[in-house]
Amino acid sequence: MNDKKNYGFTTTILHSDRRKGIEHGSLHKPMHTSVAFGYSDARQLASVFQGKEPGFRYGRQGNPTVSALEEKVNQMEQGVGTLCFATGMGAIGAVFQSLLRAGSHVVSSAYLFGNTNSLWQTAAGQGIDVAFVDATDVAHVAAAITPQTRIVFVETIANPRTQVADLKRIGELCKERGLLYIVDNTMTSPYLFRPKLVGAGLVINALTKSIGGHGNALGGSLTDTGAYDWTRYPHIADNYKKAAPAQWGLAQIRAKGLRDFGASLGPEAAHHIAVGAETLALRTVRTNSNALALARLLEADERVAAVHYPGLASHPQHAISSELFRSFGFLLSFELKEGIDCFDFLNRLTVAIPASNLGDNRTLIIPVAHTIFYEMGAERRASMGIAESLIRVSVGIEDEDDLLDDFATALEGC
Ligand SMILES: *Cc1c(COP(=O)(O)O)cnc(C)c1O
Repeated sequence: MNDKKNYGFTTTILHSDRRKGIEHGSLHKPMHTSVAFGYSDARQLASVFQGKEPGFRYGRQGNPTVSALEEKVNQMEQGVGTLCFATGMGAIGAVFQSLLRAGSHVVSSAYLFGNTNSLWQTAAGQGIDVAFVDATDVAHVAAAITPQTRIVFVETIANPRTQVADLKRIGELCKERGLLYIVDNTMTSPYLFRPKLVGAGLVINALTKSIGGHGNALGGSLTDTGAYDWTRYPHIADNYKKAAPAQWGLAQIRAKGLRDFGASLGPEAAHHIAVGAETLALRTVRTNSNALALARLLEADERVAAVHYPGLASHPQHAISSELFRSFGFLLSFELKEGIDCFDFLNRLTVAIPASNLGDNRTLIIPVAHTIFYEMGAERRASMGIAESLIRVSVGIEDEDDLLDDFATALEGC
């Protein structure tokens, strides 16, 4: 590899491990399962603990296999540093754990992954005030900011209703106000969109989803893009201010969010995700073209009341999605006309599988109000724009004809 050359997305990921030196000629980063890391000189151990030289100490804080994955995600997001976690929620929980304290205020999109929504409810019980806003318009975000606001949190394409946040203008607003802007990039992945480009300081990816892609490992990541000036953040402890300010945020998150909180990614999962990441771009091209074809089929069917997919001209944020994203993602949702039993419809599908999870190679389908959004109740569902008949589809890489045929046949039975 020529270090001066700017390689494309896939070339960069495929050859990432080689750039750090190959162990025994192994072209994949080997899976290091040791929990502890020993040194022949005890002084060196002390020096690693004190952060005076790089090195591994204990698996909860870092592992060579996990580091290799962190490096890949960091290259995908073009960040200054990335930390991996056991799950996507582990990464979001680490933000909560390490950056907020009683009295902090958060402005969050109301259109959120269900468990993130639940986490913010937990935060509210601990004296952290969260304002939920319709983030498709920056004006709502601006109106919710208070002097205590510490972070602004949005998703790119919201799961399951596919609302697209006003990403660019929220970035401009945060920059103007010196606020930390956090974007959950899971539904787009760094292949479709880099939140750094709109000024996000921290980027979250649930690696479980399209980056891993095979539904065989859980993982999450948090990337510092370098866009945020940490000297403006009031809650960085002196301990984490020893290096240059660009390092402060991740230093505190590594200690408070990873070491103390403990949602650490294991080396086996890191290996699965790293292998999956090699084909992210290839799989995304296929899932996204399948999703667009399926959205068009559903939109043209008289038994379907509504289809939500940013790739359709009828989607309210189609224009900004076209401008910001390489294509429109693997996630779509739709509503069947009143009187059609969604369970009967789902049971007629033979290719799409009724299951939770997103970004799998297989097409997965789930009735939202009855499952993943059941706990929050009808009122909050309505406030998030979630119809009781909403069905979410995570579109996979099946052959397009098979997928369209499966849905067409199941609709005919309605
Ligand atoms: C799945 C998901 C998460 C959480 O990821 P896990 O690995 O399941 O914990 C967070 N944000 C979004 C947008 C997701 O889809």
